Amino acid sequence: MIKRLGSGIYTYMPMGLKVIRKVEAIVREEMNQAGAVELLMPLVQPAELWQETGRWDKMGPELLRIKDRHGRDYAFQPTSEEVITDVVRSEIKSYRQIPLNFYHIQTKFRDERRPRFGLMRGREFTMKDAYSFDRDLEGMQKSYKIMYDAYTRIFTRFGLQFRAVAADNGAIGGTGSHEFHVIAGTGEDALVYCPSSDYAANMEAAEAIATGSRAAAGAALAKTATPKASKCEDVAAQLKIDLKTTVKTIALTSEKEVDGKVAKQYFMLLLRGDHELNEIKAGKVPGLNPYRFSTEEEIKEVYGCAPGYLGPIGTKAPVTVVADRTVALMSDFVTGANEVDFHFTGANWGRDMAEPSLVADLRNVVEGDPSPDGKGVLAIERGIEVGHVFQLGTAYSESMQATFLDENGKPAPLQMGCYGIGITRILGAAIEQNFDDKGIIWPTSLAPFELVLCPMGYDRSEMVKEETDKLYAAAQAAGIDVIVDDRGLRPGAMFADWELIGVPHRVVIGERGLKEGNLEYQGRRDAEASAVALADIVSFVK
Ligand code: ATP
Ligand code: MG
Ligand code: MG
Ligand code: MG
Repeated sequence: MIKRLGSGIYTYMPMGLKVIRKVEAIVREEMNQAGAVELLMPLVQPAELWQETGRWDKMGPELLRIKDRHGRDYAFQPTSEEVITDVVRSEIKSYRQIPLNFYHIQTKFRDERRPRFGLMRGREFTMKDAYSFDRDLEGMQKSYKIMYDAYTRIFTRFGLQFRAVAADNGAIGGTGSHEFHVIAGTGEDALVYCPSSDYAANMEAAEAIATGSRAAAGAALAKTATPKASKCEDVAAQLKIDLKTTVKTIALTSEKEVDGKVAKQYFMLLLRGDHELNEIKAGKVPGLNPYRFSTEEEIKEVYGCAPGYLGPIGTKAPVTVVADRTVALMSDFVTGANEVDFHFTGANWGRDMAEPSLVADLRNVVEGDPSPDGKGVLAIERGIEVGHVFQLGTAYSESMQATFLDENGKPAPLQMGCYGIGITRILGAAIEQNFDDKGIIWPTSLAPFELVLCPMGYDRSEMVKEETDKLYAAAQAAGIDVIVDDRGLRPGAMFADWELIGVPHRVVIGERGLKEGNLEYQGRRDAEASAVALADIVSFVK
């Protein structure tokens, strides 16, 4: 299927490429059907664009940087938010031109720290990435739903068992992000879900906090919006909080409509009182757990004062303040840090705080624990992230000034969403889910070939050759992706190869059977071959 050239870099060999083309075709059809429009953006992108959004610095070593002969900096694209936003800011002028959704299927490069498992985590890989542009939050959420539904159709057509889960979306918060996972025991992600309701979440973010590893923290940090401390200053003054000493983290967690305006909700992590983080981490402060939200009672117990509710935004966070058009969500809970000023942000806070019903300490969850939505018990399974849909909001359009004019001729930033599918990762995921000791078992929609014809003596028997050629033409005419194995191998070796490759249908054409008007058929999952009448074979396979 593939041949390794270097760490995380592969040549797609003919069989593998055939599967990739099938994945792409299904994705393309469903994206087009959902109203998305295909274009193709460059692999090599000028650094200036990445500097505009701050990602040139924020992305760290995962971003492959290159210089041209003039010494100018470029990035090899890991995704294309910057380029599509640049396209749109010069092309979209009016509300009449939106909503729009652009996508491409293009090579990506991410200098992964640990490339592994072949196409699962390559450094060079193919992704379908789409980007939607809307005039307001409501429109963006509608575009998001359209993509969510399209993804459901895509993964259903792949013939894979999958699950969509609420995902950590770092800077954005809310329920604005879902991952699509192919279920497989070897998956890197743990999914926790409730079989009797639609509760399903990725444990990733919770685990990042739990393990306290710098790598995990880094990953969480990378997803965090640039702190906008200034917007919280009013709030801090009101609460008589010294920003420098007590506020450890300020992050944008979500956006909501409040009184017809888009309110931004910030999350401030405060560390108040006399307790040093190390003490808390070491469990020396009774009642405070560094790795989860502290309850109101615990805060009261430790700090001697109750947190207050100052603003209405439908959350039960300890302190909420509405200031100007900015809603700041202030909380007295504490969290862990590995060292001074190295804090976890962008983890689950946004989602958990916006939706108190979903607050759960997922790290220690075991099968059978009650589901946070109260509708049953939890189950856990492992998954491979093959798709990710994401409500971006205006982070990119604001930093890159991508605006449109509304009916009143007033400029407003475009509301964006982005939607990825790991095209090449699908191959690895499909195999991880479908194999036996003989090899791969491809779902028919992804198989490099649907049907293999194995003639017994193609160049020895005129009868076998003639029937094989006829059958090949008939299968092709019926739209079946068919191949003839005319290598002249012994049956055992020939069959073993096709079982290893994982072609779903095999038909053996031999003189003996032909004389009785029969062919020998075996499905990849069948224990034995069976005789099928020559005349019926095409409709049988179809
Ligand atoms: P992961 O958590 O596995 O690193 P990601 O969250 O960084 O993935 P996204 O930025 O959400 O990935 O990209 C969209 C999709 O691209 C992912 O859902 C995944 O299917 C695919 N993808 C991401 N990184 C790789 C990679 N290194 N190799 C192959 N496919 C990848
Ligand atoms: Mg990644
Ligand atoms: Mg991920
Ligand atoms: Mg992702």
